[in-house]
Amino acid sequence: MALVLCPECGEETVDQLINCPLCDEPLTDSQKAEKSKNARLFFFGLAFICGLGAATLCNMLGYTGWAMGLGMVGLASMAILILNLSTHR
Ligand SMILES: [Zn+2]
Repeated sequence: MALVLCPECGEETVDQLINCPLCDEPLTDSQKAEKSKNARLFFFGLAFICGLGAATLCNMLGYTGWAMGLGMVGLASMAILILNLSTHR
């Protein structure tokens, strides 16, 4: 058992803990990776929904060029999302 400093608040804590007891900041690398992975998934999920939503809207309004472009953005985001979900770190 060793003492480590929390990168977020500087509180001294034992390295067995997964999260800092004071500010709840993840202390282990796998926890940090999980956190950034979730942020990435959220971002691409949002891009996917917005892209396809905007594409549908443009299609209804008759802007087929825009609909194509935005549809591509949505599909690319979906592909990245699936890739991220299926690969293990
Ligand atoms: Zn802390």
